[in-house]
Amino acid sequence: MSPTNAEVFAHAQAVIPGGVNSPVRAFGAVGGTPLFLASARGAYVTDIEGREYVDLVGSWGPALLGHAHPEVVAAVQEAAARGLSFGAPTETEIDLAEAIRHRVPPAEQVRLVSTGTEATMTALRLARAVTGRDLVVKFAGGYHGHVDALLASAGSGVATLGLPDSAGVPAAVVADTIVVPYNSVEALEAVFAEHGPRIAAVIAEAAPANMGVVPPVPGFNAAIRRITHEHGALFVKDEVLTGFRVGYSGWWGLEGLREGWSPDLFTFGKVIGGGLPVAAVGGRRDVMSQLAPTGPVYQAGTLSGNPVATAAGLATLRLADQSVYRTVGEASARLRDAVSKSLADAGVPHAMQWAGSLFSIMFGVDAATNGARDYDAVKATEHWRYGAFFHALLEAGVYAPPSPFEAWFVSAAHDDEAVSRIEAALPAAAAAAAAA
Ligand code: PMP
Repeated sequence: MSPTNAEVFAHAQAVIPGGVNSPVRAFGAVGGTPLFLASARGAYVTDIEGREYVDLVGSWGPALLGHAHPEVVAAVQEAAARGLSFGAPTETEIDLAEAIRHRVPPAEQVRLVSTGTEATMTALRLARAVTGRDLVVKFAGGYHGHVDALLASAGSGVATLGLPDSAGVPAAVVADTIVVPYNSVEALEAVFAEHGPRIAAVIAEAAPANMGVVPPVPGFNAAIRRITHEHGALFVKDEVLTGFRVGYSGWWGLEGLREGWSPDLFTFGKVIGGGLPVAAVGGRRDVMSQLAPTGPVYQAGTLSGNPVATAAGLATLRLADQSVYRTVGEASARLRDAVSKSLADAGVPHAMQWAGSLFSIMFGVDAATNGARDYDAVKATEHWRYGAFFHALLEAGVYAPPSPFEAWFVSAAHDDEAVSRIEAALPAAAAAAAAA
């Protein structure tokens, strides 16, 4: 007989810290044994026990088209057959950079890296170099990867684990990081009034989705743009999660493009690798050209622009046309409404919060009060109801994100059958949340 998830998890914990290679995977926030996955296709994942689940994690973002899209897999196979890694430039890297720039023209130049963490780290280094300033402003609950300087009041796994910060980050490193409550223009103005001439950059998730989804109030990103501009600081818009997921041109396409503004730098990741490790920093040419070898800001990577990974990303972006975003948006809206209805039927106060096709549930929040608009408000929700809700879904064959502080990821492969399966599982999950 094949081993169970519990048996494999026990083995994993012996050789891998916590049995996982990224903390949220360990089910710490919801309890129980993580599923060890054997395969994934379309809207479904299958664990090592042979059970199939409708997947709402989507590899935490990359699986926009659904898992193992045949054309993406074919592109990967073709690229792999030509060689796995060269450590020399390839034409696919140019094609991917062009594909990004085509969708987001203010990303005038693009440097490819392998993870979102590298992208945000590089963006900060660039901002500090071009401004000659040290301070960086981030928002509470904003997650930008495990960059030392940004592990102050971060969301995602840090929120899940309830760690205020990370051990091992020198006090001197976060001393240059100022944390401001999200959605507060006044707080940002106040910080700039005090420290303006020393601030290199403000980094913000384009629409935060690592403390649960907390969309920017209308005009908030534009206010960041205005304030940074007034003080000679850079605006780094982190679209690692939202980029090319919430729309053809990412969150910028939904907001900046319409309102006529752009950040100085963008960070991208997830979808642009189509499931393989690709991320990027892009933006103003005069800033980007400060990177080595044209400029003095050092940044490099053995596997940066890897030919197999960039082939996956390029194939994904080529397939992700407007109809894909429409499909994802419709499936997401239907699901969001179904979740909300099941919770209302079970008498569970909640607010659904969403940013484009990304959504999450804020338990115990009255939807009429504008929901939870910053990290403190999120922490004050009844997020402890989520574990029971999650496990009832899992029992019924639905794999939701194993943390209340993460977004739900719907893909273009979430067709009527997949969404119907989730809908069928919701009443029992809502009842479990009510009883929690
Ligand atoms: N920025 C944001 C907004 C993210 O959501 C993430 C990852 N979830 C990162 C940066 C870090 O990306 P990576 O995990 O690839 O390092």
